Amino acid sequence: MSDRIFNFSAGPAVMPEEVLKQCQEDMWSLGKTGIGVMEHSHRGKAFSAVLLQTIADCRALAKIPDDYDILFLTGGASSQFFMIPMNFLGKDQTADYLMTGAWSKKAIGDAKRYGNVHVACSSEDKNCSYIPAEVTWSKSAVYGHFTSNNTIFGTQFKTEPTPPAGVPLICDASSDIFSRPIDVTKYGMIYAGSQKNLGPAGVTLVIIRKDLVERGSKDLPVMLQYRTHAKEDSCYNTPPSFPIYAVGQVFKWLLKNGGLEGIAAKNEAKAGKLYDYLDQSSLFKATAAGDSRSLMNVTFVTGDEKLDEQFIAFTKERKMDGLKGHRSVGGMRASIYNAFPEAGVDALIAAMKEFESQNRK
Ligand SMILES: *Cc1c(COP(=O)(O)O)cnc(C)c1O
Repeated sequence: MSDRIFNFSAGPAVMPEEVLKQCQEDMWSLGKTGIGVMEHSHRGKAFSAVLLQTIADCRALAKIPDDYDILFLTGGASSQFFMIPMNFLGKDQTADYLMTGAWSKKAIGDAKRYGNVHVACSSEDKNCSYIPAEVTWSKSAVYGHFTSNNTIFGTQFKTEPTPPAGVPLICDASSDIFSRPIDVTKYGMIYAGSQKNLGPAGVTLVIIRKDLVERGSKDLPVMLQYRTHAKEDSCYNTPPSFPIYAVGQVFKWLLKNGGLEGIAAKNEAKAGKLYDYLDQSSLFKATAAGDSRSLMNVTFVTGDEKLDEQFIAFTKERKMDGLKGHRSVGGMRASIYNAFPEAGVDALIAAMKEFESQNRK
């Protein structure tokens, strides 16, 4: 569509065009029901079918074993920052947190309200520009928590950290979920806000092992216990039905396009091109350490704030948007999630070349 431009926004972010078109149709009438998807009762036959299919597609996509529940919650990934310790971290217990960015820090802040936090590693000494190689786990953590992709700082774990045997690994995968194959059996729980790699804002995907659901505190408001949502297929109360539907369409799109292996190859190609360009550029420079670079959020600078600003204006004249970096890193950030087209990466590289030739140092 010619009226669409390349959207590098970190979140809410670009969605696959064919999914948007399907949403347009189903918004008016879901199948032949004569009722739009947003207007159906969450307990009716039509929406129940959507929900069950979405769960089945999610399971197929990430090969999620039957001993894990798949939940659709609200309150964003940020609500998991407190829901996790409320359920699993007692006052005298310790949880291990890997501190690799702004979101890890917020998760740590909320966990401290409920129990002890052991910071098992930190990259704060270098403005979170790398993923620490060493993790020092505590003796008897009730769980270990990490952020697989640091949306703001543009770093990403290449593989998951390995906590001591028996310690459930919990992952905030908000900005790289389903961007590559994942071995779910290594995790106790994986969660992600929907608005980066899954669809529109409004729902939080939680993949959680059933024994953890059972282990959660019973001394909490019902809405804050995982078991409530697990028992009722996320329909204890009215779930965010439209976001769930839209995320379901994205799952179908992924399944049709080679699944997680297929999307991983595309993501590597897209990010690879961009980093290759940055590495040979005499003007632009990637900010993340070489071995820690994110395939989802590529952060870079010119080293001159004025030039950064000029470059961002330059991209806006060329049908690109959302490239301004987060204020804690500065410069530029290209968020190139699953749905971001390779043609947009090519357009960005072409713009960088042109800008560089006009601004030789
Ligand atoms: C965006 C983001 C969040 C916050 O998500 P909300 O849905 O806005 O609460 C948390 N963690 C990471 C890694 C993110 O990228």
